[in-house]
Amino acid sequence: MARYTEAVCRLCRREGQKLFLKGDKCYTDKCAMVTRAKVPGQHGDGRSKTSEYGLQLREKQKTKRYYGVLEKQFRSYYEMAERRPGQTGQNLLSILETRLDNVVYRLGFAMSRAEARQLITHGHFTVNGRKVNIPSYLVKPGMVIALKESSRDLEKIKASVEANAFRQPPKWLEYDAQNLVAKVTAVPERDDIDLPIEEHLIVELYSK
Ligand code: SF4
Repeated sequence: MARYTEAVCRLCRREGQKLFLKGDKCYTDKCAMVTRAKVPGQHGDGRSKTSEYGLQLREKQKTKRYYGVLEKQFRSYYEMAERRPGQTGQNLLSILETRLDNVVYRLGFAMSRAEARQLITHGHFTVNGRKVNIPSYLVKPGMVIALKESSRDLEKIKASVEANAFRQPPKWLEYDAQNLVAKVTAVPERDDIDLPIEEHLIVELYSK
């Protein structure tokens, strides 16, 4: 599985905003966006005004980084979004939201999407009763996602569940916190996705 392996705080600094890629640390004063928010690199703060293309590119990069998706897969999600009825940009975000790693993160089983990916790869979750260890697995309405019985005592997961107990899962996921099970009740809509993404810029970029 291809993935980004460089220092992730650098990505936030490049995008000029918190992407919440490191779990707990993102919510503390140790966050690099608090301690040294300038754009990384020798010419960090001295970059000239961003062009229209530059803005579109940054929006795409930021979105990929939020969800931890590399270019090839992102492009294939875009093509999938184009084939669906409705607005391509919104479809794209909807597809990204339904990745299993995002669902596990949204439900509070992990402190970041990267951590969720690791937990899934290690086989801690089931979909419709069957183990799924593919973070990019796309869930659909009617599917049931659960933490495996044998994984319930894992300290890492217990700590995340506790720390995220205050967080409301998105309304397209019906979560049973007692049994650590969730059901997908709908396809996520744009209003359900709280990320500051201007998806029309991504569509403009890929439509060139
Ligand atoms: Fe981004 Fe989190 Fe690093 Fe802060 S701590 S720069 S939000 S990854």
